[in-house]
Amino acid sequence: MGKLLIIGCGGVASVAIHKCCQNSEVFEELVIASRTKSKCDALKQKLQDKTKTVIFTEQVNADSTGELIALIEKHRPDAVLNLALPYQDLTIMDACLKTKTHYIDTANYEPEDTAKFEYKWQWAYKERFEKAGITALLGSGFDPGVTSVFTAYALKHHFDQIHTIDILDCNAGDHGYPFATNFNPEINIREVTAKGSYWQDGKWMETEPMAIKRVYDFPEIGEKDMYLLHHEEIESLAQNIPFVRRIRFFMTFGQSYLTHLKCLENVGMTSIKPIMFEGREIVPLQFLKAVLPDPSSLGPRTKGKTNIGCIFTGLKDNKEKSLYIYNVCDHQECFREVGSQAVAYTTGVPAMIGAMLVLTGVWKKPGVFNLEELDPDPFMDALCKWGLPYTIQSDPVLVD
Ligand code: NDP
Repeated sequence: MGKLLIIGCGGVASVAIHKCCQNSEVFEELVIASRTKSKCDALKQKLQDKTKTVIFTEQVNADSTGELIALIEKHRPDAVLNLALPYQDLTIMDACLKTKTHYIDTANYEPEDTAKFEYKWQWAYKERFEKAGITALLGSGFDPGVTSVFTAYALKHHFDQIHTIDILDCNAGDHGYPFATNFNPEINIREVTAKGSYWQDGKWMETEPMAIKRVYDFPEIGEKDMYLLHHEEIESLAQNIPFVRRIRFFMTFGQSYLTHLKCLENVGMTSIKPIMFEGREIVPLQFLKAVLPDPSSLGPRTKGKTNIGCIFTGLKDNKEKSLYIYNVCDHQECFREVGSQAVAYTTGVPAMIGAMLVLTGVWKKPGVFNLEELDPDPFMDALCKWGLPYTIQSDPVLVD
């Protein structure tokens, strides 16, 4: 069917690459390009004998639009799947525009020097992508991504109006370290130390970081503490789901994680403001990343499950109803299948599915889209086929 260029070769990319290689009918050729080429070569060596997909590897600095254009012109992929960091979204989108190549990512753009992620920079490309006749699919991970598709599916099949959405992200995995993050530590810590916010009655409501705590009894997991965070899909869902009155995002954290984080914050280690150290400028958070465990090394040690999903309330045939759609994923089963823990798995699988739907033409239309704007049914079918089946529960316990 086609050729995909994947940029980045970290935790999430590794899963997406494994999944593309399981799906050789669609991904006949794969180019893996990243800053550190040896990681791409190691993955190629591991997978090439077990798949019909033909794999190429390249070195690229994705901060350079020029390098990206040269890479795309050399390989002529049908689409680019951006699994580097959110800082590279715009340079990669620019290269896609220039070469008229479809674009897919999993996280919205964030300038490196301000921890503020918003869609405005990427939505500004809408007209240019329309004119170029190419598709940009924003946020094809789990949250955002699958949570956006769950919402579109609920609206298409179960509600006439959705009034509230609570997105619940529970990771009950235990990796045995007192403190580690499950995906890129820099991006993860920027997200959880930011102020919380939610959408209510047409406005953003801001809270201090981790100020709102709830306890929820998660199916297949049990009771966990969860905290309200700002999260990028709230912004697009608020725009794309008519009649919605409130959207919140909660993530579970254990006490050990929170105590360590507070301590690191108190001593200035989570700051993104550069400081001088022994004659050179360093960013404390980037230094912290260098001393923390690499998330891709957590796979063999992590036991337990994740449960990520959305609780909806609203109206169907003029009657109030509520529904919970969620996926449960087991860290060790993911590790057995693709050598990664469930947080990378739950992001890498939807990244492959988004790329597949663009490559096969099912979701190919000119413009810049968040996932809830497209027909959810083919994505929901693919989730079941490719390892992330979902459960739909009526009348769930609601979050107060
Ligand atoms: P990693 O840090 O493990 O991987 C990032 C990869 O990008 C590394 O291979 C890195 O290279 C490469 N890279 C970074 N900068 C550049 C650059 N300038 N040029 C070329 N390559 C570069 O991150 P994750 O795999 O954990 O996360 C990947 C993305 O997925 C992030 O954007 C993250 O926000 C997103 N994500 C989305 C989720 C969702 O549900 N939607 C959930 C979790 C993550 P090197 O190996 O040299 O460091």
